[in-house]
Amino acid sequence: PKTLRLILGDQLNRNHSWFKDKSNDKLYVMMEIRQETDYVRHHIQKVIAFFMAMRSLADHLKNHGHKVLYIGLDHPANQQDLVKNLSWIIREEKIALFEYQLPDEYRLDKQLKDFCLQSGVQARAYDTEHFLSERDFLENFFKGKKTYLMESFYREMRKKYDILMDGKEPLTGRWNYDQENRNKFKDPLLLVPPKRHQKDVSELLRMIQIQGIQTIGSIDDNHIDWPVSREESLELVEHFCQFLLPYFGMYQDAMFSGDPFLFHSRLSFSLNTKMISPLEVVQKVEGYWLQNQDKIGIAQAEGFIRQIIGWREYMRGVYWAKMPEYAKMNYFGHDRKLPDFFWTGKTKMNCLKQAIGQSLEKAYAHHIQRLMVTGNFALLSGIDPDEVDKWYLGIYIDAIEWVEITNTRGMSQFADGGIVGTKPYVSSANYIDKMSDYCGSCYYDKLKKTGHKACPFNSLYWHFYNRNEEKLGKNPRIGMMYRTLAKMKDKKDILEQAEVYLSKLEDL
Ligand code: FAD
Ligand code: SF4
Repeated sequence: PKTLRLILGDQLNRNHSWFKDKSNDKLYVMMEIRQETDYVRHHIQKVIAFFMAMRSLADHLKNHGHKVLYIGLDHPANQQDLVKNLSWIIREEKIALFEYQLPDEYRLDKQLKDFCLQSGVQARAYDTEHFLSERDFLENFFKGKKTYLMESFYREMRKKYDILMDGKEPLTGRWNYDQENRNKFKDPLLLVPPKRHQKDVSELLRMIQIQGIQTIGSIDDNHIDWPVSREESLELVEHFCQFLLPYFGMYQDAMFSGDPFLFHSRLSFSLNTKMISPLEVVQKVEGYWLQNQDKIGIAQAEGFIRQIIGWREYMRGVYWAKMPEYAKMNYFGHDRKLPDFFWTGKTKMNCLKQAIGQSLEKAYAHHIQRLMVTGNFALLSGIDPDEVDKWYLGIYIDAIEWVEITNTRGMSQFADGGIVGTKPYVSSANYIDKMSDYCGSCYYDKLKKTGHKACPFNSLYWHFYNRNEEKLGKNPRIGMMYRTLAKMKDKKDILEQAEVYLSKLEDL
């Protein structure tokens, strides 16, 4: 039967078994639509990178003998809505069978299910053949448990895929080297220039502007650096193994004003659009480490592999176990607005200025910047998780709801009340200073809790614990904080200082 096969913008897996079939009755459709550019305000580099990566797959498929209907944003027949476009194509092309790959977002999953029901078209859904676990694997794995412990899930994945294993035991005798990933970065001589995939995007940029798409952030001289094809993505994997893996674990949590990327891989966009698969990436890294054990410690390789087959896979499982309720969770009942400086980077707090500034400029911040600077500040200040989610979902090159919301609402904002994390990730200036070079040149004084130029993190931190005692006081991992708080002589002054800051967040 004449078949229409839909490929969504984050389903760019050119090794999918679909493409083994080159018969003439299969028509592939890909579309650039306002529905996707407008559900949140995205970073300009993100919109461009998605369109370029989609176009690159479409060209590849055409060059390999497939029939592809590519509907560009300015295509005259484009109705800018997934369902409207599908209905039109099915009618026009006399399609008998509609096939799609299971979307990773709840929103699109529902939209496509509803469409199939309502249109009455004969339809079939396929796996994306990307992840290492099925959508519902995690939910079944943790059946009956309140907290989903990432570490148990991660070990299961290691065993299942035989990664860094010796039979049933971890290859080096230990599962986890997390303790060794906490160094401050002090030696700029170790830095390597990022692998660049510079492309002139003036034409796309103009088209996006003419169409009036509202975006955030900037783009450097009409060029982007992100990998937008499988070839470029594989080059980035090679670059990572050769130059960044040797220090990855060691400096995984470090922040440094001189380099936004440090030893991070920048592979999240390639992975989340499925141009490369998580299994091939971890196998490459494992293989590289095995051959270079004299130069690269296990803590580096294990630290990286854990992020991909552990955290990434785990977050997806949580998403499917808890959506759609997850998107509304607000454990602390936070309701403040996100300060405007999240959109401009104009704040006197140097850590936030750096993390937000580079996010606006590069569509990128690494994990600890997202968690312990911007996320930490939003949680301590009691920002509405809806506002926080919107910001993270728009600004990052890799932000797609399944992995953004679980990290933001769950790990970072503890709005899920402890499904992802066992306690909130919050800190005072002490941690930020330990892991970065930000405090040295800050307007605020990292050592002061109250008074002129006292670092806002220091009072907001205690205010957060104080106002949430009912919810957190019984948590055995936090008990000590409450004992310290109870004994503090200047508790009243600190809480008052926090109130002052909370009343003028915009001015910080
Ligand atoms: P590296 O540090 O090189 O790590 C390698 C890979 O591991 C990443 O590419 C990513 O695929 C995976 N990974 C690492 N940590 C996580 C994690 N916590 N969850 C899932 N995968 C992980 N990641 C996204 O892909 N999309 C998001 O929208 C996103 N939003 C986040 C929001 C917050 C508040 C926080 C705290 C984290 C978020 N992350 C998100 C996770 C993480 O910060 C990014 O995956 C990482 O910074 C991407 O950069 P990289 O490729 O250089 O990562
Ligand atoms: Fe951030 Fe406070 Fe350090 Fe300034 S002093 S960089 S606001 S933690």
